[in-house]
Amino acid sequence: MQKIVLFYKFVPIADTETIMHWQRTLCEKLELKGRIIISEHGINGTLGGDLQNLKYYTRAMKAHSLFGAITWKWSDGGSEDFPRLSVKVRDEIVTFGKPEEIEVDSSGVKNGGKHLSPEQVHKLVQARGDDVVFMDGRNAYEAAIGKFKNAVVPNTRTTKDFVRELEKPAMQKLKNKPIVTYCTGGIRCEILSAMMKNRGFSEVYQVKGGIAKYGEAYKDEGLWEGKMYVFDRRMNVAFSDKSKDIGTCSSCSKTTSNYENCANLACNDLVLLCKACTKRSHFCSKKCHKTHREPASV
Ligand SMILES: [Zn+2]
Ligand SMILES: [Zn+2]
Repeated sequence: MQKIVLFYKFVPIADTETIMHWQRTLCEKLELKGRIIISEHGINGTLGGDLQNLKYYTRAMKAHSLFGAITWKWSDGGSEDFPRLSVKVRDEIVTFGKPEEIEVDSSGVKNGGKHLSPEQVHKLVQARGDDVVFMDGRNAYEAAIGKFKNAVVPNTRTTKDFVRELEKPAMQKLKNKPIVTYCTGGIRCEILSAMMKNRGFSEVYQVKGGIAKYGEAYKDEGLWEGKMYVFDRRMNVAFSDKSKDIGTCSSCSKTTSNYENCANLACNDLVLLCKACTKRSHFCSKKCHKTHREPASV
């Protein structure tokens, strides 16, 4: 049987190169595919492969002095959901572009937002009502097909855009409100919530385990609506058969959660398109449409 496992751990890593080589050898031996990023602040991975081999991997990690306590998130899929194995050392395990701002010790990111379980999120909303602000910690295109109801969705193409977005005037009004950040599995909020506190947001929480854990607990019966965007061939995940489509087809405006690649092959952007509209080529922007047509007209 095949499975996918997601994990991360913020922990100071002194010798990132040694860890990288160990990880690469281990994953190759176990025929795992996916992506592992290692930095001085920790490790972040998504791996697909045979269940027994993945279990062997988690045991090898548990036996390592740095990676003992990790929450493993299992999901359906396998090695065929990833094109290859990639193991890299970077400045950050999530690229916010602010590695110097983050401090990590053996218990994780220092000065991050308070972790709330899905149940505690509901308690906070019961107690504080509309005052509670949900802050999407992902790229805007992820939020376009699913998000917490009434969440603030910053205009982000990549995680690096948060620095700019947090400085916008509209954000300053939120500095004294209770803010709940959320992302897919929780890792981006570890950094985002610390960056928000560093910028004067006074009451910051983060959803422990992210949307994935929230979805397991409340499915489509709570504060979430739509599909959860995922970075593998599945593209998105529904928590139940009551899951709604909240995205808008860029061609006909019907609701959809279906993303297609921009028809300009030189562009990596995604276009929301309902199934009926995928029959014709579509572009993410006028610019891509024009660029694409120019060679043909020469
Ligand atoms: Zn359409
Ligand atoms: Zn494009």
